[in-house]
Amino acid sequence: MGGKGNGISLKFYGRRKTIVYMERMMDPGKFSMAYALVSCDESSLSLIDCNNRFRALSGLECEEGRNIAEKAFGDKWELSLEKILTRETMILNFASTGRSFRAGCNRKGKGLYELMGIDFTEYERKEEYMLFRASGYRQFIDNLRGIAFQRMLKPERLAMFTSGALERLTGYTEDQSRDLASWLEIIHPDDRDRMAEEGLRIYEKPGYENESEYRIIRKDGEVRWVRSYDNHFRSDDGLFEMVQGLIVDVTEQKNQEQKIREQNILLEELSITDHMTGLSNRRFMVNILDHFISDYKRSEVTFSLLMIDLDHFKLVNDRYGHDAGDEVIKKMADVLRSDLRETDLKARWGGEEFLVLLPRTNREEALLIAGKLLKIVRSLTVTHNNIDMKFTFSCGIAVNDRRLSAEILLKHADKALYRAKEEGRDRVFLWDDK
Ligand code: GH3
Ligand code: MG
Ligand code: MG
Repeated sequence: MGGKGNGISLKFYGRRKTIVYMERMMDPGKFSMAYALVSCDESSLSLIDCNNRFRALSGLECEEGRNIAEKAFGDKWELSLEKILTRETMILNFASTGRSFRAGCNRKGKGLYELMGIDFTEYERKEEYMLFRASGYRQFIDNLRGIAFQRMLKPERLAMFTSGALERLTGYTEDQSRDLASWLEIIHPDDRDRMAEEGLRIYEKPGYENESEYRIIRKDGEVRWVRSYDNHFRSDDGLFEMVQGLIVDVTEQKNQEQKIREQNILLEELSITDHMTGLSNRRFMVNILDHFISDYKRSEVTFSLLMIDLDHFKLVNDRYGHDAGDEVIKKMADVLRSDLRETDLKARWGGEEFLVLLPRTNREEALLIAGKLLKIVRSLTVTHNNIDMKFTFSCGIAVNDRRLSAEILLKHADKALYRAKEEGRDRVFLWDDK
């Protein structure tokens, strides 16, 4: 392709060294790219020929022989001239229009250059925008309250990045915790094995999402709780795999949870009622019993214990279900509440066991009261889910008319209960080893 007629041949050397030849067969005004023929050295530039596109882009007119370097490029003119003299492709920014020109440059002879290319203003903005956006992402990630990390697994294993929070949270720099092994070292020894196992699971299963909590030991020795959200994903073609995650400090939250747990335990200890039946709970009953025992030592006022256990309760559960069983337990509690004196102390002792303390009650009275309860319960029907159920209980009685300990007294009641069961259930047995 030589120059034919008034055609001019131009050479472009792109980054890949591809040579593009273009024929300018017609009037430069109709040519689709901006074109200019300039004469240029380190300190001056003059415009010999150009087309309309170039005119519009640069805001310049041909004024051969006049140095328009500064007019063309403003205070950056020296740099721009250097670009023309030393590069094959470049971006020139025109001062008066504010537009940029991505040009290929072809040296035509001593000090003579052809510039040809496109208006690059929009593209350049786009590029700047992309760069800004990328730096924005990075800044955003670095400022996150947690450590964002990304590790490549395939085609090779490497830490791609760990965000700025790493140092704030752990005291270690990115280099000090680059691989998984050094991260595991930061993990508290009590949590390390568990996390190593979880780590393996995450790393081996594409699509795996995991949330875990563990402790880390900071460089300064402080222990912090973190929660890690990890997920493992791979490209559709399966060529690439990586794990991304966010590790957040949850120490305050953990401490708060711990405080709440401790408070709950305290509350439970302070609480004196059984949740399901509303009777006293076992702990409270033990306290009361101790109180009565020491009272006896002073005043020698007899009191009695009724140890009550529902008969064949496993059968009730098996036949009617656990909920039905609960209803029966509640019914028994109702009976104790409504058919005993208010001053009698009633507790749920265990699952379907109750303990009643009858103050100022001797053996004859205790037997009468227990017998009355047996009768009442025999006459009852509990309805649950439209099913009527009957139930009975057995009762062991222990009477404190001596200086017995709570332990022995309870043992007596228990033994008596056992005898009541043994002798056929639905009955009362009074322990008497006088
Ligand atoms: P026994 O006459 O010898 O006492 O027979 P039993 O079936 O009652 O035997 P045992 O006292 O050993 O078993 C008690 C059963 O009560 C076992 C347990 O599943 C059930 N149970 C304990 N607590 C609850 C509860 O809160 N609700 C229900 N529905 N069942 C309970
Ligand atoms: Mg029992
Ligand atoms: Mg029972």
